[in-house]
Amino acid sequence: MVARRAPRTIAQDPRRRLPAVGVLCADPAAAPLNARFGIAAVTKVVRAVLAEARERMTTDAPVIPTLAALFDEVRRRLEDADRQTLFRVINATGVVIHTNLGRAPLAPEAQAAMLAAAGYANLELDLEEGRRASRHDHLDRLIADVTGSEAGLAVNNCAGAVLLALAALGAGTPVIVSRGELVEIGGGFRVPDIVVQSGARLVEVGTTNRTHLSDYEQAVRDHPDARVILRTHPSNFRITGFTSAPSLAELAAFAHQHGLLIIEDLGGGALVDLEPYGVLGEPRVQDSVAAGADLVIFSGDKLMGGPQAGVVAGRRDLVDALARHPLARALRLDKLSVAALAATFRLYRTPSDPVVSVPVLRMLTQDIGTVAARAEAVRTLLADLKSLDCTLVEALGYAGGGALPMHALPSRALGLTSAVMSAEELARRLRTGPTAVVGRIERDCLLLDLRTVADHEVTALAVAVRDALTLESRS
Ligand SMILES: *Cc1c(COP(=O)(O)O)cnc(C)c1O
Repeated sequence: MVARRAPRTIAQDPRRRLPAVGVLCADPAAAPLNARFGIAAVTKVVRAVLAEARERMTTDAPVIPTLAALFDEVRRRLEDADRQTLFRVINATGVVIHTNLGRAPLAPEAQAAMLAAAGYANLELDLEEGRRASRHDHLDRLIADVTGSEAGLAVNNCAGAVLLALAALGAGTPVIVSRGELVEIGGGFRVPDIVVQSGARLVEVGTTNRTHLSDYEQAVRDHPDARVILRTHPSNFRITGFTSAPSLAELAAFAHQHGLLIIEDLGGGALVDLEPYGVLGEPRVQDSVAAGADLVIFSGDKLMGGPQAGVVAGRRDLVDALARHPLARALRLDKLSVAALAATFRLYRTPSDPVVSVPVLRMLTQDIGTVAARAEAVRTLLADLKSLDCTLVEALGYAGGGALPMHALPSRALGLTSAVMSAEELARRLRTGPTAVVGRIERDCLLLDLRTVADHEVTALAVAVRDALTLESRS
């Protein structure tokens, strides 16, 4: 049976005993919050907290929250909203160029250059002459020197660089692409879409597995107004078996005979030969430039190991045409990326050895003994943990980032099994702990691959595992 309640008079209503918004905001306890978060933000949260408290007080035996409890709640919400969302992560996945983890970790030289440019910097000022200069000046010569091209330019990312090149050189004309190269790279980069977005018309030639020079000849006959042949590195997939395509040198010679330009989208952007290290099949930018490509385009943050950027290397007149196009302004790099990219390019000039100084290359080429020793070092630091089974296991890592998809990197990992929690729970605690660590789970075991962990992260990794097992999870 439901007893009918007599309507409360205003005077009896316990909700009246809650302080008013203005009173709470003027309380001395609000002062530090106002100073830290601003009066407007504090007032908004106070209003919300009071409204919810009022709603909860509709029972016959309402609990009237204390002032301290109200302020605790207000502070908690303000701190939650203020919390940083982007953190440093220890990458123990074994995937070197991990898109979800921000692709390439920058070399210390590139990090220092970013910090140095973070205040005012001579981004577009010639300090010698005191005149306005171009932000492209910081990279043009460097890109040319390292790749062997006449000139260079960089924009926000590789997709943007391809879009810019096609818009500047191919808009309104047919752009010829092999059907074997009409790929989707991931994250929504589809070659046919980019061609169309640039204002060019797509002309497909050949078949998925085989495209011959005669197919290009036919296309040029059918489309006498064509000015550009686009070649795309298929990056994250391979067609094997009965395949063929003209070499870049053959295609470049053909294009130039017919007065066409050849643009190559290489994606990966390897600037050193990785074959001596057993990393096969990734073409070098310098080889594409030497083979006669008019423009070669690649990412700054894949195999080059720099910041996010789309780098263009090639003919002076074409690079200048790209720089003048309005899209170059829309896609331009900020000063931090210019600084980091220039510093990374410098590591490809002697006397530095990029395989040692560029973290991506160091990780890709590191011998298995070094990786195993690092795993052993972490294991030693965890040896006293009774509830943890920690063994050295063989693992396979990958280059990632769309580069070298077939190329597994033999690696070593620590296989962690806890006596008190599941692999999922351990993985979650590691991800959400004070130092985030990302590994992967295989057969109910958490694997931490040490190829992608730097030597200077070994102690932090061990501390993170210890914390994950002992601390109460924060969330
Ligand atoms: C990765 C890749 C892209 C896209 O590069 P972003 O820097 O991510 O824009 C374009 N083309 C190829 C061939 C690629 O491998």
